Amino acid sequence: MMRQYELVERVIQYKPDADEALLNKAYVYAMQKHGEQKRADGKPYITHPLEVAAILTDLRLDEETIAAALLHDTIEDTDATRKEIDGLFGERIGFLVEGLTKLKRLDLVSKKAEQAENLRRLLLAISDDVRVLLVKLADRLHNMRTLQHVPADKRQRIATETMEIYAPLAGRIGMHSMREELEELAFRQLNPEAYEMITTKLAGLSEIHGKMVTQISKALHDKLSREGIRAKVTSRRKRAFSIFRKMESRSVSLEQLSDIFGFRIIVDTVEDCYRALGIVHTTWKMVPSRFKDFVSTPRQNDYRSIHTTVIGPSRQRVELQIRTQQMHDVAEYGVAAHTLYKDGVPSVDAANGNAEGNAFTTLRKTIAQLAEGVNPEEFLEHTKLELFLDQVFCFTPKGRIIALPRGATPIDFAYAVHTDVGNSCVGCKINGQIMPLMTKLENGDEVEIVRSKAQTPPAAWESVVVTGKARAAIRRATREAIRRQYAGLGTRILERAFSRAGKSYTPELLASALPRLARENVDDALADVGRGELPSVDVLRAAFPDYKEERATGAAAKPDDGWFGMKAASGMLFRIPGLRNRAKRKELEKAAIPIRGAGGDLPVRFSPNGGAVPGDRIVGIMTPGVGITIYPIQSPELSQFDDAPERWLDVRWDIDENNSERFPARIRVVAINEPGTLATIAEVIAGNEANVQNLVMNRSGHDFMNMLFDLEVWDVNHLNRIMRQLAGKSVVNSAERVLGNP
Ligand code: MN
Repeated sequence: MMRQYELVERVIQYKPDADEALLNKAYVYAMQKHGEQKRADGKPYITHPLEVAAILTDLRLDEETIAAALLHDTIEDTDATRKEIDGLFGERIGFLVEGLTKLKRLDLVSKKAEQAENLRRLLLAISDDVRVLLVKLADRLHNMRTLQHVPADKRQRIATETMEIYAPLAGRIGMHSMREELEELAFRQLNPEAYEMITTKLAGLSEIHGKMVTQISKALHDKLSREGIRAKVTSRRKRAFSIFRKMESRSVSLEQLSDIFGFRIIVDTVEDCYRALGIVHTTWKMVPSRFKDFVSTPRQNDYRSIHTTVIGPSRQRVELQIRTQQMHDVAEYGVAAHTLYKDGVPSVDAANGNAEGNAFTTLRKTIAQLAEGVNPEEFLEHTKLELFLDQVFCFTPKGRIIALPRGATPIDFAYAVHTDVGNSCVGCKINGQIMPLMTKLENGDEVEIVRSKAQTPPAAWESVVVTGKARAAIRRATREAIRRQYAGLGTRILERAFSRAGKSYTPELLASALPRLARENVDDALADVGRGELPSVDVLRAAFPDYKEERATGAAAKPDDGWFGMKAASGMLFRIPGLRNRAKRKELEKAAIPIRGAGGDLPVRFSPNGGAVPGDRIVGIMTPGVGITIYPIQSPELSQFDDAPERWLDVRWDIDENNSERFPARIRVVAINEPGTLATIAEVIAGNEANVQNLVMNRSGHDFMNMLFDLEVWDVNHLNRIMRQLAGKSVVNSAERVLGNP
């Protein structure tokens, strides 16, 4: 734990003429004001402002800032007043402390106008004195470091706010090490599984790479010192969150990332940067297109460094950054670094007449434009935030703000609101207009999600969304939907198998049989039955250990209780006697599995050689791993399943009038072989709005053509009408249905 005297010592170390009395006075005042107050971890409250002040000494900030850090929670949480602080510590410190008080909560769930007002206050305070932001960020950093002591429900909100507002702000003013730590801590809270997975893998990699890192560091160091260049060589490993972001944006695994480890060469002068670069490039082969010179052309936020990648001693890619100590400080501490160089040490920016650095100047300009007399909501809309260029901020109809990466769709939005909202999303309104779900969202869009309980997210969405949360949820929902399909089918199969055995199936029966089936739960068991991985007869035996199959297994055990007919040797259909009983038939019809087509909620497909269309009497055949194949009852192909009665399923059509799905049907047309015949036939089919999926022709004798059409039709009436009209044409000899390969 940081102590008062340690803090003062730290300041004296980098600023020997610092006002010690001021620091001590601020400490004593804060300690008295906070009195008996405790932090969430049970420690005296004063430990918090002390640690915040300590973080700021790492940035070597002046004693006014350090004093403000010590006092930052006094106006908010104690009876201290601005006036009192002004009197004791001067107006400048009073201003800083008040600025920090006002922006206590940048709450993401408060009203739109309140949020805008809060953000505006923060930005205005910053534009007046950037030290407000520095203290605020240090405050947030300490709160994030001690997040585990805060109640769980608050943790999530604080972490989200950190990830969406404070980390980008830190990045915006060039404080990259602060941004990285904030992101890392927030990431750990927001996505603990991913954090755990990456840190574990990294720990494994570190062992392997440890040797290599030492070897390369030494090689670099030796080469440079032989050429008389004084250099500090350090290696660094990317943080879990930046690895995670790379993995997400490139959709690659951690093992595929080449730049997890990197090296930094810190030299004394700009000239040494280029000399070091020359030595590196003559020693190892450079990777073309990876060389960037931000020394001669700095980035907008003042970042300067030379980047290059070479093929290292053991053939691996090695990323290198070459920079001076000052460039390094600017890269790490951003705006704060400028205060480091204010006193006496020559600064590049000072030479350009720019004492604050570009990063802060840009920030200040943005804020000044925004602050010009606009109302709070308009402000937020503009703020748009220029500050957060890689993000878009959208609103729910109730005014909750949702921050998303640029390129996000309403689907991402829905999942960001809540996983359930995403899973049930079927449409959206953007700013009151119905819009496609693929629309890219813009800043300030108000998004209303249209939901339906019946919805399952289409698997194809996975490639449309940009957020990891949405992608993972869609993958999970798709898996779950498929499992539900198979479980539904499994239920039907068991109902049928049990009823054939004169028993009736209940989930309780299955539950009691689970241990004997070595299955964990009812749903898993049902899905396995549906997939054909668990035979229904095994379930029957597990539920009724003394059950014996009554039927002689040797004889062809044909389905005998279905409401479908059974084929006699003659090839004619006849009714099973029991079915004369109307009541019984109704009952059986109800038990049959409803078929809605291939797009329904069961894994259904149609017999490829002459499928069934609504209106046909149908039967389903179970195929493990595939699902149900639907055959017309007259299909000759069914004979191949005669010996597998357990695969037969009672099915019935369940098509409503508005169904838009078409069904496959095959017809054979024999027609006179003369010019124009095909056109005549095509005209009939097109005139009836049927689709032709495939056509096979062969000449049958000299004068006739034999044609097989695979059509897509609405139902059996539609198909019959087409065949009737074809048969009515003079060129057509016959048109008849094909129900399968005999
Ligand atoms: Mn605080």
